[in-house]
Amino acid sequence: MLERQNLRITRQRRIILKELKNDYTHPSADQLYDKVRQTIPRISLATVYRNLRVLCRLGEIQKLKLGYTQKRFDPNPDFHYHMRCLDCDRLDDAPLSPLKSIEDEAGAVTDYKVLGHRLEFVGFCPQCSIQS
Ligand code: ZN
Ligand code: MN
Repeated sequence: MLERQNLRITRQRRIILKELKNDYTHPSADQLYDKVRQTIPRISLATVYRNLRVLCRLGEIQKLKLGYTQKRFDPNPDFHYHMRCLDCDRLDDAPLSPLKSIEDEAGAVTDYKVLGHRLEFVGFCPQCSIQS
C-alpha cells in the first residue's frame, strides 16, 4: 500500500520534472499545473507546489527569487542571469558569464563576507518592442 503510494509520488514528480525540463519560459507553479493536469487530470495545485519544493531541495531545478511578480521555476539549477520583459513578464536566459568581480568589489566596500549576488536585467522583449 505504502509502496503503491510511493510509486505514485515518484511518477508525479517525474512528470512535473519532465514538463518543466521541456519548458523554456520559466513558468510559474500555476502555469506548470495547467500543463501537468493534461497528463495527471486529478493532481492538485498543492501537490505540484510540494513537488516543486522537493525538486528544488534535491537541486534538480531552482526557484527564481527576483522580480515582484509570481515565483518562477527554472529547469536549470545552475547560477545564470535572466532578462525580464517589463510589459508581458516574459523571462529569458541571459547567457553572460557570472560577474565574480562585483562580489569582490562589494566585499571591499563593506564589512560583509560576500556569498553571492542576485541580478536581473529588465527591458522589453522583441514582441513588446515592436508594439510600443
Ligand atoms: Zn514582452
Ligand atoms: Mn533560466
